[in-house]
Amino acid sequence: MNKVPYKIYLTEKEMPTVWHNLRAKMKEQPDKMLHPAKLTPCEKEDLLPIFCSNSIDDELNETDEYINIPEEVLGFYRMYRPSPLVRAYWLEKELDTPAEIYYKFEGNNTSGSHKLNSAAAQAYYAKQEGLTSLTTETGAGQWGSALSMACAFYGIDLNVYMVKVSSQQKPYRKTLMETYGAKVIASPSDTTVCGRKILAENPDTGGSLGCAISEAIEVAVNTPKCKYVLGSVLNHVILHQSIIGMEVKKACEIYGIQPDIIIGCAGGGSNLGGLMSPFMADKIEGKNKIEFIAVEPASCPSLTRGKYAYDFGDTGKTTPLIKMYTLGSGFMPAPGHAGGLRYHGMNPVLSKLYHDGYFTARSYFQNEVFEAAVKFAKCEGILPAPESSHAIKAALDEAEKCRVEGKKKVIVFGLTGTGYFDMSAYESYVNGSMTDKAPTDEELEAGFASLPKI
Ligand SMILES: *Cc1c(COP(=O)(O)O)cnc(C)c1O
Repeated sequence: MNKVPYKIYLTEKEMPTVWHNLRAKMKEQPDKMLHPAKLTPCEKEDLLPIFCSNSIDDELNETDEYINIPEEVLGFYRMYRPSPLVRAYWLEKELDTPAEIYYKFEGNNTSGSHKLNSAAAQAYYAKQEGLTSLTTETGAGQWGSALSMACAFYGIDLNVYMVKVSSQQKPYRKTLMETYGAKVIASPSDTTVCGRKILAENPDTGGSLGCAISEAIEVAVNTPKCKYVLGSVLNHVILHQSIIGMEVKKACEIYGIQPDIIIGCAGGGSNLGGLMSPFMADKIEGKNKIEFIAVEPASCPSLTRGKYAYDFGDTGKTTPLIKMYTLGSGFMPAPGHAGGLRYHGMNPVLSKLYHDGYFTARSYFQNEVFEAAVKFAKCEGILPAPESSHAIKAALDEAEKCRVEGKKKVIVFGLTGTGYFDMSAYESYVNGSMTDKAPTDEELEAGFASLPKI
């Protein structure tokens, strides 16, 4: 058989034209989202003040396995997709492993991550609905960058609430968003009731994603023709990201690749959910035995140490209640944490599948993650995002297991983005000042204490 090429690119014709909705294949559905005051399952009308109409339809859709990607969104995707599935020949050689390692590279666009896959869809739906502006939050800055690009393309104004520590760590992310025309506000800010309250209680806080979300929602519900959009966690975001898994599956079919292990880093769950989606559907039907692994930072361990409970998506406790693995909406990772993936909760579909034993999760400390990142960069030429490097670390560990056991497994992982804006994180790794912290049980208890009593 012909050797698999270094880079597998689908042709434009082979590119999937549908998203994959994993819920249609689940044996049991995740518990429904609840209205925060009434505690009844959310109906479309409950969500309309906050979210775009089309996103809500997708959010609540439990039955259609495939959803057509609008022609305009497909057109946008064609600017930077299909993305390559790369055979990591050089990394395999360096590791001296019998394993075959592949990575799906989503960093080949200006935002530097997979986030553009959902930004393109959500900005398009907002335009179609006649909105003139959007609000959102951003942590590390990739989502804000991606949405800035999409909003610029569709001619929509954008306000981005950026977690304060991130805006200090990554000033050029802010400049990138402003270049595309977005307004960037460090959160918590004095522009919202919620931000002022958090600042009054804790003036020196570096902020959190949960807090930035509260601010963005507050502005959206009080501004005409403005809605709020989110770049991870929710089901419709995972749906948009399923383009990743659909492309990988197609490439695997064309080249006869059968993955044994699929690995993704997990913040809110969107890239992992999107990558695994069509493969997990087959696993649920008994058509494969793929082992799926979620990887998270030890400093923000929502799957490995969190609780499966109803929780708010934000610190201000304004969002609908979501049943998910969570550290509590009041949880904030240690200030020295530089590796991203800092959200307190996890997508409800992934949470349910994890709870039911369909995949495993593990966590790593920052220094070992960056060590893996540097090893990868030296072999494969790409400087990976710190988030993606969590998946790299797990892939290296699995490849090492194959070497020790003399087993030839096929490992696929998601290389979600590039780390060019993360130089302060790389700097602290290179100069030896990077800290390895995991929350103590007492610190986790403090987060769990913020869980609503339901
Ligand atoms: C946002 C981000 C992640 C984590 O978010 P998920 O929703 O869990 O995918 C991972 N990698 C990169 C590069 C990101 O920008």
